[in-house]
Amino acid sequence: MSATATISLNPLLQCSGLPPFTQIKPEQVEPAFNHLLAELKKQLDILEANVQPTWNDLVEPLEQLTEKLNWSWSILNHLMAVKNSPELRAAYEKVQPQVIDFITVLGQSKPIYNAFKTLRASSNWFVLEPAQKRIVEAAIRDAEFSGVGLTGLARERFNSMQMELAELATKFSNHVLDATKAFSLVLTDQAEVDGLPNSLLSLAAQAARATGVETATPENGPWYITLDFPSYTPFMQHSTRRDLREKLYRAYITRASTGELDNKPLIERILELRHELSQLIGFNNFAELSLASKMAKNVPAVEKLLEELRQVSYHAAVKDLEALKAFAKSQQAPEAENLQHWDLNFWAERQREEKFAFTAEELRPYFPLPQVLDGLFGLVKRLFGVTVTPADGQAPIWHPDVRYFKIVDENGTPIAYFYLDAYSRPAEKRGGAWMDACIHRGKVTVNGTTTVRLPVAYLMCNQTPPIDDKPSLMNFYEVETLFHEFGHGLHHMLTQVNYTGAAGINNVEWDAVELPSQFMENWCYEHRTLLGMAKHYATGEPLPEHYYQKLLDSRNYMSGSAMLRQIHFSCVDLELHYRYRPGGTQTALDVRQLIAKTTTVLPPLPEDAFLCAFGHVFESSYAAGYYSYKWAEILSADAFSAFEEAGLEDEVAIETTGRRYKDTILALGGSQHPMEIFKAFRGREPTTTALLRHNGLLAQN
Ligand SMILES: [Zn+2]
Repeated sequence: MSATATISLNPLLQCSGLPPFTQIKPEQVEPAFNHLLAELKKQLDILEANVQPTWNDLVEPLEQLTEKLNWSWSILNHLMAVKNSPELRAAYEKVQPQVIDFITVLGQSKPIYNAFKTLRASSNWFVLEPAQKRIVEAAIRDAEFSGVGLTGLARERFNSMQMELAELATKFSNHVLDATKAFSLVLTDQAEVDGLPNSLLSLAAQAARATGVETATPENGPWYITLDFPSYTPFMQHSTRRDLREKLYRAYITRASTGELDNKPLIERILELRHELSQLIGFNNFAELSLASKMAKNVPAVEKLLEELRQVSYHAAVKDLEALKAFAKSQQAPEAENLQHWDLNFWAERQREEKFAFTAEELRPYFPLPQVLDGLFGLVKRLFGVTVTPADGQAPIWHPDVRYFKIVDENGTPIAYFYLDAYSRPAEKRGGAWMDACIHRGKVTVNGTTTVRLPVAYLMCNQTPPIDDKPSLMNFYEVETLFHEFGHGLHHMLTQVNYTGAAGINNVEWDAVELPSQFMENWCYEHRTLLGMAKHYATGEPLPEHYYQKLLDSRNYMSGSAMLRQIHFSCVDLELHYRYRPGGTQTALDVRQLIAKTTTVLPPLPEDAFLCAFGHVFESSYAAGYYSYKWAEILSADAFSAFEEAGLEDEVAIETTGRRYKDTILALGGSQHPMEIFKAFRGREPTTTALLRHNGLLAQN
């Protein structure tokens, strides 16, 4: 076969439509990207030579070019996260520098930048729609942040730093994955698994079988406890063996902090590069650069808000710990006076059981995945009038467990599609949960005919897989997580913006991105939604009413501690990118310990290397932006309170408010400033009142 024929058959070069996942192989990555990038460079040259400062001769051709790259590049990134392998990693590392290189060249294109500036200054500007204006303004800002104004040595320096930062992020992420995979606590003795729930015993035996111990059973072991969330968390909550909890905890907080997988030097280097980079383009530090494209006005505004929440939550967290000690004492725990980190989850869970008389595990049988999905889909129908139906078989998938769904509007017209990859697969899939865009909504013109391309989303969770013939039985946290990610998905899928650059989550300020996701979590506590989906997987018995009351009561259980934890992460992240300078007498880990003095009640152990696994900040886009979770939670709590004010029992009011939410927050995407969108929905600016009330922290304010 000729080289041209091979290239034309390369599935990574299809350039549009659903990714042909079943055909993609790691060895196709390099040839595909070599070909694609050469092609795109030619197209960029042509565009630069012919660019005109108008929407049709600038934004549209530019969008076509970037979409070609994004189509292939996002598939590769998706596969790295869900089907990671040594072969794929090697291929990724080969093409990544070339891709970053091209993105840099594109971002620094003077002819394109100048055309955008001319467009903004011309009379054409006044006929553009607000969404188009936002896209142009973001393009000018992004070009400036990409170093378009730099020349000569400064530009070379800037580019080599961008390249190094991308490589460091990939390395950081691989280290965490490898370190997590490298550790397991091997238990062989019944006494070592005392207290563990059956679901964890099954998972632990499955983990043992996965490494070749074929005889492993939930009843007789051996049991492999790993550092993955579905294994780590229930072990810490339920193991009565304090020594083993300590062992697992220490392994967890020192992940990727020693030997070949040590992320500490990477952290210092990343912070150093980010600082230098931000200065090169005219900012004092990386935090100021980060905030320049966010909803929050500046660093002091964020610090003021974090301090307000810190004061409220710190006092609540102190009380939480005192109560926990008193409870442990009442249970004759020898460690009661000296509770350590590895005791907190355990005693918090025992106290929760006593206080609310149920265990998190008890609820699992009431939340089989298929019913939870029915409940979720029923809710979005009720709120937004859209219908979700299975569409399995209509799209290629990357793993047999992956599902595919269709969303139609009130007239039965399709508006979006999504994949759901629900289960944990530690050997090849990144941990955590996320939503990613597969295809963006947008107007597409082919041979003179213009149509609207429908959005497609990836919804990714890491919940307990079906074990021993049982469906995936979810704990309540996993239910909330699924609702959360689906909220991101709705933002992406229910957008009505037809300019791709501002459709769905595109061009939405980072600190407003978590509004639609956190908003959805609130519905897990709404009577009709919860009782509608919670039915015993074997008997069909609905969740007994007393559990509902207990879930409500337990919602604010230790909420001060939970909020303080988020404030701690936010403050550490902000400080590292605002005042901290690498290369001095302090390390990033020292700074974290220092901040812990006012943002934790039980200080971290001296060897705590949590930063070494803080992927949000060192491998993805939350740098100097972790606070966004709290910022957006204020928005989402306030948005939900609009439904509470309208009356959760009043179906007509729910429908009206739901449609208004859909037509503003979900529909407008990045086409307007988030404050304007929020005000369009709520009729006023956001306040912290609803968040503090929902967390039971209002009285102490
Ligand atoms: Zn989220």
